Amino acid sequence: MRIGVLGGGQLGRMLGQAGRPLGFSFTFLEPAEECPAAATGDWIRAGFDQPQALEALAQRSGLVTYEFENVPVEALRTIEPLCPVRPSARSLETAQDRVREKEFLARLGIATPRWEAVDDPAALAAAVARVGFPAVLKTRRMGYDGRGQRLLRTRDDLAPAWAALGGAALLVEAFVPFERELSILGVRGTSGECAFYPLVENHHPGGILRLSLAPAPGLGPGLQARAEALARAALEALGHEGVMAIELFQSGEALIANEIAPRVHNSGHWTIEGAATSQFENHLRAIAGRPLGPTTARGHAAMVNLIGVIPDDLDALAARSPDVHVHRYDKRPRPGRKLGHVTICAERPEALAPGLAAVWRMLGDEAGPMPAAAGERPAPTKARA
Ligand code: AMP
Repeated sequence: MRIGVLGGGQLGRMLGQAGRPLGFSFTFLEPAEECPAAATGDWIRAGFDQPQALEALAQRSGLVTYEFENVPVEALRTIEPLCPVRPSARSLETAQDRVREKEFLARLGIATPRWEAVDDPAALAAAVARVGFPAVLKTRRMGYDGRGQRLLRTRDDLAPAWAALGGAALLVEAFVPFERELSILGVRGTSGECAFYPLVENHHPGGILRLSLAPAPGLGPGLQARAEALARAALEALGHEGVMAIELFQSGEALIANEIAPRVHNSGHWTIEGAATSQFENHLRAIAGRPLGPTTARGHAAMVNLIGVIPDDLDALAARSPDVHVHRYDKRPRPGRKLGHVTICAERPEALAPGLAAVWRMLGDEAGPMPAAAGERPAPTKARA
């Protein structure tokens, strides 16, 4: 079966890499001049707002999915009459608007930071008076990797933050003094079958994911069960088909939802080598109506994003150590751009430390977002620029 994919970035590329051995072929629709996914399938270079290109994609495909969250919902509506779209437009439109997303989570009884939509500077001042400092001002739509956000520490931050973001619809939310950030990845098939990966601990210095540790260190069965229950509620309420990630703040025993990604997710890249079935394979299994593969971790994994630069000596490290896996996305280097990732696997969590320390050294970041020494707990990464 040929699968059409809206978006042709690294997530599409890894879907293609997982799908070809399963007998799938791929067509990616990607407007940008670079299409990392094209290494694994055909590429239609067109905008998501071009009906003819969308129809061409639908006509060539047995089903269509998306790897990019900011695809306009209208693109899915154009394709739906011609070919099944999974996950459905409902999942996409819920996740791509932070207000809709938070209202959806509230209906399910899932905790979120306290928030208010704000339409003008006076409303912002009034909302912050209720929400309290520190707070985070965010665009309702199109935010990713910490873009479209400003931390508000005092009243003096309000005017510059409004000046920076005020052209778009905004919301303000309470800053959560979390102990750590986690994510839960769930997958739901067309039969309603659900499976969940172990919780992952994520570090986002500057708002962009830098490090994921899987399974999350110190993970008790209670926390995993509660995360699975909330992810299941979201998957079922949306009738979601495919992988979904929910980013969470852990504060004490509380799990507070930050956002939903209705697609394969960066914090699940470790599953390629570190789980019995990767998130990419399970997404394809789910949308194609095949039985899901087991989601158990094979030991422990650390995934480091390669942002802006890929050090040359990573290959030498991978050559020396069979547990180090370097993934390149073949994207032109640019500061702040995710160019690849490296996953280190080990049977025991302490054994991840030497490989991680070597990667941080190559990245010119002696400590990385977590201490290199074996067994030490990572420092919480809280503030953002
Ligand atoms: P987001 O784009 O909403 O996923 O935010 C990116 C990162 O900013 C998160 O992973 C957190 O590290 C931080 N962040 C966002 N919202 C909050 C919040 N309400 N409280 C604390 N940190 C936040």
